[in-house]
Amino acid sequence: MRDIQMVDLKSQYQKLRPQIDSAVISVMESSAFIKGPDVGFLEEELKEYMGVSHVVSCANGTDALQLALMALALKPGDEVITTNFTFIATVEVVALLGLKLVIVDPEPGSFNISVEAIKNAITPRTRAIVPVHLFGQCADMESIMELAWKHNLFVVEDAAQATGADYIFRNGSKKKAGTIGHIGTTSFFPSKNLGCYGDGGALYTNDEAIARKLRSISNHGMKVRYHHDDIGINSRLDTIQAAILRVKLKYLDEFNEARRSAADRYDKAFATCPSLTVPERSPFSSHIFHQYTLKTDAGKRDELKKYLESKKIPSMIYYPGPLHLQEAYKSLGYSEDAFPVTSLLCKEVLSLPMHPDMEDEQLEYIISNVLSFFSK
Ligand SMILES: *Cc1c(COP(=O)(O)O)cnc(C)c1O
Repeated sequence: MRDIQMVDLKSQYQKLRPQIDSAVISVMESSAFIKGPDVGFLEEELKEYMGVSHVVSCANGTDALQLALMALALKPGDEVITTNFTFIATVEVVALLGLKLVIVDPEPGSFNISVEAIKNAITPRTRAIVPVHLFGQCADMESIMELAWKHNLFVVEDAAQATGADYIFRNGSKKKAGTIGHIGTTSFFPSKNLGCYGDGGALYTNDEAIARKLRSISNHGMKVRYHHDDIGINSRLDTIQAAILRVKLKYLDEFNEARRSAADRYDKAFATCPSLTVPERSPFSSHIFHQYTLKTDAGKRDELKKYLESKKIPSMIYYPGPLHLQEAYKSLGYSEDAFPVTSLLCKEVLSLPMHPDMEDEQLEYIISNVLSFFSK
């Protein structure tokens, strides 16, 4: 049995090696390192895959979120509602742009932002909602879009963990995560479901004016070289990364399916363990298991983690602390007990190894050790 890792990027590289190597070498031979042809090809291929009108690549998923909020011309003091249970990048960009960060609790079952909590947080100064499709499963987009229309708000989907997940509307039609709101953002960080070999990101939109703005501000506010129409930033996807992503995009559905079948195995094994809650599967979303996240009694979680470590099984806590208690965000002024769901989740969640190359033997080993911890 190979050593167990949270994410096994080496095994994946070994499988794709000839294609990846030749893609990288051909970029080096062309020397078109910035805005080379692979960048445009990748954007076209992603457009097709995502079923969206415009794809704008950029340097990482955090920049993608920042570019989205810049393109919507939000002004300092405008309120942006997002979830307290997410990676820091989601809230960071709101704060960086001088917007007023309004955080709310997620649903305890799906881990995704609570629509009820959004409703309660909307004020006359609210301008945007940023739902995060956490751990590979979509937030309740149809309800969020209805709220947004009613209150005239923008919706920016943080789809960094959900590349390839389908949102299923009440009428049965489907759209890819990230293509439902005004703008969707994603990350190609190596461990994401579609990851490159460094940093990378992209934005999706069906609005042509927004797409033009994003293209401009991600490249110094230029539409024509050395003519600056907007105050922009330097946030471009490297050609080498685009070339790697073009190879990996072809396998994305297969990889996501492999994650799902590993998750099915976990689910089946843990469903009857009274101390564990397996991840909820929302009726309105496919799940691509960026993370496989269990809940266990708050008192037991850290012990379980230590026990697994002693068996050479890594596990991770996403996320260990609510954002409103982080030093950098104390000035928001939220009281410590303002977010009971987030606070509890931070004590209960544990993510197990999850990637497309999990071996049967590894899964069996992880499962039997988790179960033996609880039957001790
Ligand atoms: C990874 C991630 C990001 C940021 O992506 P980077 O490419 O690392 O900047 C943003 N939001 C969420 C939810 C993420 O998981």
